[in-house]
Amino acid sequence: MTRSLSLLGATGSIGASTLDLIRHNRDDWQVEALTANCSAAELAQLAVEFDAKIAVVGDETCLPELREALAGSGVEAAGGAQALCDAAAQSVDMTVAAIVGCAGLAPTMAAVERGGTIALANKEALVSAGDILKKAVDRAGAILLPTDSEHNAIFQCLAGNDIGRVRRIILTASGGPFRTLTGEQLQSVTREQALKHPNWEMGAKITIDSATMMNKGLEFIEAHHLFPVGLDNIEIIVHPQSIVHSMVEYRDRSVLAQLGPSDMRVPIASCLAYPDRMKTPLTPLDLAAIGSLTFEAPNEELFPATRICREAIEAGGAAPAVLNAANEIAVEAFLAGQIGFTRITAVVEETLARYSAAAPGTSEEVLAIDGEARQRARDALESSTLV
Ligand code: NAD
Ligand code: MG
Repeated sequence: MTRSLSLLGATGSIGASTLDLIRHNRDDWQVEALTANCSAAELAQLAVEFDAKIAVVGDETCLPELREALAGSGVEAAGGAQALCDAAAQSVDMTVAAIVGCAGLAPTMAAVERGGTIALANKEALVSAGDILKKAVDRAGAILLPTDSEHNAIFQCLAGNDIGRVRRIILTASGGPFRTLTGEQLQSVTREQALKHPNWEMGAKITIDSATMMNKGLEFIEAHHLFPVGLDNIEIIVHPQSIVHSMVEYRDRSVLAQLGPSDMRVPIASCLAYPDRMKTPLTPLDLAAIGSLTFEAPNEELFPATRICREAIEAGGAAPAVLNAANEIAVEAFLAGQIGFTRITAVVEETLARYSAAAPGTSEEVLAIDGEARQRARDALESSTLV
């Protein structure tokens, strides 16, 4: 039976992996909406290839180009923040939420509020608005399928078990490209070095987050919202091979792990087919060739991001939204060559120290906090020396 699918963030890395799976299983899926921020030509090409009903650009100034590229194709074109939410609110069997950053919150919320099944890759939405999103999920009877590889691994390790019997969730982290550097060496790493992840090919923002370990900190918060076992029972361990994608320890000390190639098509496929399993075009894991799987404790002296994230979620309220917004600004500034690598987490910490707000109760309030925190982070950037 054909299932309908909307893909928010179709032109990104998760978008490409999702569409590759659809390409290999073309008869099983009817694509409804594909969205992007701009990239009108690329989006139009994908919309035509996948015979989408509608293509939407979040940035309205890109709509004329999208319209032109889609002229005569039969694919509807739309643009702007509201159009993104309208597309996300259309009823489909599966929504893949793969916009990067807090920009994905409103469209993800729209999909949640209509009670859809959502493969959630957009971790920033959950970090900034976790409690609000979860309440909306419960209210609307929506289903969130964790797509982030670690959370998907945990989800798989929990299957058939009672979460009340979990003793510990063990989140694995590759450690990023700078795991073995000294503090001094970290000061002078370049944008190009930071953009080269040892194991995963991903969008620029999450690749930088992986290098600072902010990605693991955000994932710690994400895990807390998805799997309520208590903050003290979520641990991070560095596993440089990225083969074990995370683990769950039960009270009998049995530890279940999920292994697989470092390719997002595996967790995405697990969400798309859930609760069934689909074929993927991936080569099987060759454990003999990999040889050894190693584990080490994270170094929070050199990579303070996981500590900053833990403190932010312990503080609760607006802190996780402030943290996420400040990180988005700091990563942008690093990618633009405005600040050095180690300033990224410093800007986040500075912003958290300077700005606090009352706990948000709605996603609109989260977005207001997000906006203000971005401004504070920009101020922190300006007041800081270029390192
Ligand atoms: P990406 O930068 O490659 O793609 C992001 C997508 O979002 C693009 O389609 C882009 O057009 C769209 N977008 C960006 N800004 C937007 C805006 N303001 N409004 C509307 N659309 C916008 O990012 P990615 O690596 O695919 O990551 C997407 C999400 O999935 C992130 O939250 C990331 O943390 C998460 N994730 C990614 C991976 C991965 O392997 N890439 C793994 C786990 C989780
Ligand atoms: Mg991950």
